[in-house]
Amino acid sequence: MKPMKPRKKLVVIGNGMAGVRTVEELLKIAPDLYDITVFGAEPHPNYNRIMLSPVLAGEQTLDEIVLNRVEWYAEHGITLHMGKAVTEVDRSRRLVTAADGTQASYDRLLLATGSQPFVLPVPGHDLEGVISYRDIADTQAMIEATQKHRHAVVIGGGLLGLEAANGLNVRGMSVTVVHIGEWLLERQLDREAAQLLKTTLAERGLQFALHAHTAACLDDGQGRVRAVALKDGREIPADLVVMAAGIRPDVRLATAMDLQCNRGVLVNDTLQSLTDPRIYAVGECANHRGTAYGLVAPLYEQAVVCANHLADFGIGRYLGSQVSTKLKVTGIDLFSAGDFMGAEGTDQIVLRDPVRGVYKKLVLRGDVLVGACLYGDIHDGSWYFDLIKQAQSVGPQRDTLVFGADPVSDAAGTPASTPAAG
Ligand SMILES: Cc1cc2nc3c(=O)[nH]c(=O)nc-3n(C[C@H](O)[C@H](O)[C@H](O)COP(=O)(O)OP(=O)(O)OC[C@H]3O[C@@H](n4cnc5c(N)ncnc54)[C@H](O)[C@@H]3O)c2cc1C
Repeated sequence: MKPMKPRKKLVVIGNGMAGVRTVEELLKIAPDLYDITVFGAEPHPNYNRIMLSPVLAGEQTLDEIVLNRVEWYAEHGITLHMGKAVTEVDRSRRLVTAADGTQASYDRLLLATGSQPFVLPVPGHDLEGVISYRDIADTQAMIEATQKHRHAVVIGGGLLGLEAANGLNVRGMSVTVVHIGEWLLERQLDREAAQLLKTTLAERGLQFALHAHTAACLDDGQGRVRAVALKDGREIPADLVVMAAGIRPDVRLATAMDLQCNRGVLVNDTLQSLTDPRIYAVGECANHRGTAYGLVAPLYEQAVVCANHLADFGIGRYLGSQVSTKLKVTGIDLFSAGDFMGAEGTDQIVLRDPVRGVYKKLVLRGDVLVGACLYGDIHDGSWYFDLIKQAQSVGPQRDTLVFGADPVSDAAGTPASTPAAG
């Protein structure tokens, strides 16, 4: 019998969405190529991070959002080190060491360390009751706080902040969203759609301080936060403060390993680090052609290409991703993609139906759809998104485009609407 070729060793740092997705893709195409070891700082198997918001809102349980149970790793011969953060990688010896001393050597290394929440460095940011929103521990801390405390402030009116605010509100807290921008979700919505969103959220009980700058988190005298002070002098009572003011690629380890980083580990089109071809990076910790993504769709695309390269197939290039936006607040439908604000040289087709609370804005450059912003009816969001990605002329459809993929039934359902070219 021919002796079996020894397997190569793959070590994955980060047991989150990108790392494990890459492993899944690799197992599909080269199940026997590697002995795989996964290190995860969190004491959990891989779970669907984006579903933390439904967990916070009481719509799902933590158990329901687990993507790969511990048994899955065992079934695939993967050594899983849960709750073990890697603190050191010796690139010359190709050796990984975790905080507790656990070691693993590698032939190829995959970095998938995700992001760190950005904590505003204001006075009081380290008080008890001031947290960020990234993982199961944060979600549990918020749920616990809702059982003991009454007032919450969420700093940041982006997707994450609004989902946090909604969850806390649903669980009975009085919540104020403090947002530096002039309108909510200014990176995802135009002012008009954002106003509709704000009205709906306000009807549900959320309060807002827009265009507001946080000055400090104030101490209750016993080390817990009691209020958020704004630069305009206002004080908003808060016994829980959730900072949702952005994320930063987690490159602490990569930097210590002397990998070239600039807002993420710099990678090429096969997701190999520019510094060391044995080392790959995927997900939010990677910077590809100047972009570090903060959403899951790009990392799924990266995972396919990276797995392909790890499998020694060598084909497949990652060329970047187009992203679209949704908010996971039950009963609120919004969608945007592309150049939804409408840069110079673009036209807009706008449909407003105040009765149904529907707003649709399509942005075209010539006859090519380049952006969409939808509120209240997102039925055609993915269709518009496909058109944006295809970047082809929509010429013949232009007149009915705003009514969606099935304009007859859509138009029939919106008798009061008139599209207006703007
Ligand atoms: C509440 C919430 C809601 C979201 N909703 C959406 C959404 O609706 N749509 C969307 O597209 N995206 C959403 N996102 C973003 C999405 O979750 C991320 O884009 C995705 O999880 C990134 O995957 P990743 O593997 O790069 O990072 P992560 O999933 O964060 O995984 C990284 C893992 O690496 C671990 N790690 C870091 N350093 C080390 C180390 N040294 N050693 C060992 N382990 C380490 C971390 O603990 C973490 O478990 C949401 C995020 C949050 C927090």
